[in-house]
Amino acid sequence: MPFAHRHLLGLEGIGREDLLSLLDTAASFKEISQRDIKKVPTLRGKTVVSLFYEPSTRTRASFEIAAKRMSADFVSLSSSTSSVTKGETLLDTARNLAAMAPDAIVLRHSAPGAPQFLAARLGCPIINAGDGAHEHPTQALLDLLTIREHKGRLHGLTVAIVGDILHSRVARSNVFALRTLGAKVRLIGPPTFLPPELRAWGETTHDLHEGVRDADVVMMLRIQLERQGKNFFPSVDEYSHYFCLTERAVGLANPDVIILHPGPMNRGVEIASDVADGPYSVIMDQVTNGIAVRMAVLYLLANRPRTKADLDVEAPTAGPLAARSLATGPLATGPASPPAPPARPARLRRRAG
Ligand code: ASP
Ligand code: ASP
Repeated sequence: MPFAHRHLLGLEGIGREDLLSLLDTAASFKEISQRDIKKVPTLRGKTVVSLFYEPSTRTRASFEIAAKRMSADFVSLSSSTSSVTKGETLLDTARNLAAMAPDAIVLRHSAPGAPQFLAARLGCPIINAGDGAHEHPTQALLDLLTIREHKGRLHGLTVAIVGDILHSRVARSNVFALRTLGAKVRLIGPPTFLPPELRAWGETTHDLHEGVRDADVVMMLRIQLERQGKNFFPSVDEYSHYFCLTERAVGLANPDVIILHPGPMNRGVEIASDVADGPYSVIMDQVTNGIAVRMAVLYLLANRPRTKADLDVEAPTAGPLAARSLATGPLATGPASPPAPPARPARLRRRAG
């Protein structure tokens, strides 16, 4: 079945068939990256523009390599090199780009909803490369591909996600897709990163050892060190004392557990170095699979036949969330403002017992 969407804004609401079609397409593209000459003509004549308002090395590079392996032209704009620093709004920047008729725009932005905002207004496919603390769909797809390669399935697996669940776009996208595909999700972190609303997503615990016990997959999240001392966690030392994934914690998981981390890693904070480099780690496979996933996404979106809707440059509907400020104000390039911290004591206590 062909992929049913014009954009890839997030994995929430993407059905099983579409997720599987993305993963199968990505799996079929992997072989290209193992060739001597890593290039196919699939997207020859197509143009992909990347617009990054937040720092990134690997995600942007991964999209660029993916586009170039498919022979697309790739133009990369970042907030430090574009007119954004001169006060241009996201909408104006994107409209100008759209007028040059690209076949896809890859957007990373600190405002949750920025990709939806553009998708409601521009004719060309929008690919979300991370919007604030909202979603990071290609990251979750590469995680799913990596898990499926190692485990042969996703259905029925227990996946433990550890860390700053509240602010993690990686966790959100993964939770949506894993649940759609029948995996069981466990969320582990201190209470400040795991407010009660998130219990709807899966089992939750504040105890790392309890959370990883018998897990098939452990997915670590990066601790954003700038949150230290801001009521989320008192100190890096205390966080890592309770939540760093060590050999001992890995020993409680299933014997064939795999360990994932989206990068960039803080070694010794959320993950011990010997675990990151150890036999269960599939972190480098994730990076390799990132290219295949982005090739698949570009292939499915940039290559689809244009309909009238695609050519309507300005849709009449208002966009969601941050729409107004994105349309009228100069763009904030700083980090996304996090949701208000839950009113909880900052000390991280393991659950009694
Ligand atoms: N958060 C960054 C990204 O997704 C990580 C990096 O720059 O390596 O690209
Ligand atoms: N690279 C991922 C992201 O951009 C994870 C992280 O930065 O922690 O969301």
